[in-house]
Amino acid sequence: MAKHKIAVLPGDGIGPEVVNAAVRVLEAVQDVVKGLELELVFGEAGLSALEKYGTNLPPETLNILKSCKCVLKGPMTTPEIPEVPPSVAVTIRKMFDLYANVRPAKAYPNTKALKPNIDLVIVRENTEGMYSGIEYQLADGVGIALRVITRKACQRIAEYAFNLALNRRRKVTFVHKANILRLTDGVIFKGAVQEVAKKYPEVEFEEAHIDAMAMNLVKKPEIYDVVVTENLFGDILSDLAAEVASGIGIAPCANLGENYAMFEPVHGSAPKMAGKNIANPMATILATKMMMEWLGEHEAAKLIEEAVIGVLSEGKVLTYDLGGSAKTSEVAEEVAKKVRELA
Ligand code: NAD
Repeated sequence: MAKHKIAVLPGDGIGPEVVNAAVRVLEAVQDVVKGLELELVFGEAGLSALEKYGTNLPPETLNILKSCKCVLKGPMTTPEIPEVPPSVAVTIRKMFDLYANVRPAKAYPNTKALKPNIDLVIVRENTEGMYSGIEYQLADGVGIALRVITRKACQRIAEYAFNLALNRRRKVTFVHKANILRLTDGVIFKGAVQEVAKKYPEVEFEEAHIDAMAMNLVKKPEIYDVVVTENLFGDILSDLAAEVASGIGIAPCANLGENYAMFEPVHGSAPKMAGKNIANPMATILATKMMMEWLGEHEAAKLIEEAVIGVLSEGKVLTYDLGGSAKTSEVAEEVAKKVRELA
């Protein structure tokens, strides 16, 4: 088995705590899975790097990213002022053309899932749409942001979604607002997705407007399998789906390109919780499960998820958001212990 060189960016706020927890679990997995060799290379990025070096993604970190197969990224704080560089997540997504943002929302035991049988994946177009980052000030107090939609990007994300559905429950829901955005969401996005759908007759295909979808995700989340949509809609829907499923503290995500990938929790840096050792590390731990899957290390991936399910089912070591009082580091140790027990 090959050695996997992985970049690790701990990030800001609760980032270092949840990433450290995930690293503890990866160490346990490496100890018990025969032939698995991981080389973790740590780099600085985010607000802390911005304050120290004047850039949130220093050249040394860029070199680390380029020398690795993929990156495990902690959440990072992005100041909400136009003068600072775009968020590190957005920069890395663009730089490595990580076009598919894949966000599973699954009901795990002992969480506040609205229904026990939720198991869906939001596939979000990750390179354009409202997050193209193109904004202009036309006059004092008047600005515009461009929502770029291209057929190429729509086709590519639709292909990813239908392929994913083939290995799941074979249903794709395309979410849009084509009744208002008739050119971008209608002619271009909807046209591209419908073309791709024709190539997958074995996959059930349906469409939904974003507003109705937000309602239905709360009302009947269990009916969805793969949900494909544009960048902003996907960002909002995936936080909603995460909360409806097991909670934002348990929601991981993968940013996938042809040759590179980034894995991170869905949640942000939650600055108010930073340094208290109370954040739920499960989202970042499950992000490493997605990373192992992407690397083709299926035994390691299965072990991580089974260990998470084991710890949640026992219900003894849970963080505050799940009604417990365990520390971030205690959850990490418990999941690592479970990995060793299950192996
Ligand atoms: P957030 O996800 O950081 O926090 C929202 C709330 O969710 C928190 O107050 C907390 O109650 C809860 N929460 C989040 N993570 C949790 C965890 N692991 N365990 C338990 N509870 C948790 O969102 P925000 O407040 O909108 O953003 C804070 C900062 O994070 C901003 O600077 C934003 O730009 C950044 N952010 C970064 C990323 C990223 O790096 N990919 C993503 C989203 C937000």
